[in-house]
Amino acid sequence: MGTQISITLWHSNAETAEQLLASGMAEMHRLDELLSPWIETSELARVNRLAVGLPQKISDELIFLIDKSLYFSRLSDGAFDITFASVGWFYNYRERQQPNEEKRRALLPAINYQWLDLNKVERTLAFKHKNVRIDLGGIAKGYAVDRVAAILQSGGVKRATISAGGDSRILGDKLGSPWMIGIKNPRDGGDQSSRAVIMLPLENTAISTSGDYERFFIDEKNGKRIHHIINPKTGQSAEGVVSVTILGPEGSDTDPLSTTVFVLGVEPGIALVNRLPGFDAVIIDSTGKVHYSDGLVAP
Ligand code: AMP
Ligand code: MG
Repeated sequence: MGTQISITLWHSNAETAEQLLASGMAEMHRLDELLSPWIETSELARVNRLAVGLPQKISDELIFLIDKSLYFSRLSDGAFDITFASVGWFYNYRERQQPNEEKRRALLPAINYQWLDLNKVERTLAFKHKNVRIDLGGIAKGYAVDRVAAILQSGGVKRATISAGGDSRILGDKLGSPWMIGIKNPRDGGDQSSRAVIMLPLENTAISTSGDYERFFIDEKNGKRIHHIINPKTGQSAEGVVSVTILGPEGSDTDPLSTTVFVLGVEPGIALVNRLPGFDAVIIDSTGKVHYSDGLVAP
């Protein structure tokens, strides 16, 4: 998943705790091998190679993730769209590469979730446009932390935190007091880990942050920040927001929702979250202003 994983847990038996940690890490690796677009043998890579016009049998997990992704696409009028990868595939942030104008324009019509033909009865997926590619980077980490949470819970764990990059699940409290989770101001330089703009006391929740500082480079020609969250309407990095944090019950919702709200921008993003019971949002816009959904505004 190209990110750091961490698991912290309490258990009365040290040996069981070690076993559960190992199972949690093994689950992360299993999902990476299933969902990575870069691992040629992953199910996702296979689908990207073969699904154009030809329905491919896919696993229950891929069905779940694609179905959930389509739900967020419909909810946001396409702000969340896993076919973003039709253009997104040609960005390489580490190598400072982006598709040229011609390529971006040529491939833009392939970004459209309506090209995905998911048949839940036959358990197949087909692409209805020849240039379509999908990528589950906007939902896989949240799903992974949910899976690890389920493994820990089935082993009797009541208190834990699990995180994969910007996506975390928090189980229980921290021995009688809430876990304190900080949202950092991405434009604060220096020792980022020590700088938080907002501290949230949290228990039993999922929390996902999408930021334009995770994978990016600056285009020397125009000073633009080229980052990993793509506006499906343009095939270019979404603008106007620097970070979105979403709180909710499960990572497989908070993860895609954070990406969705990032693309939608402040007003439509907050309006969407306010319509969804059980979810809250903190958005830092590109001027540094912080916006909260209704559930977090002081009465
Ligand atoms: P996150 O950090 O959770 O916001 O996820 C960012 C990742 O989501 C990117 O690295 C891409 O893999 C993927 N992504 C980027 N733009 C979109 C989009 N518009 N819809 C769905 N997934 C996206
Ligand atoms: Mg996300």
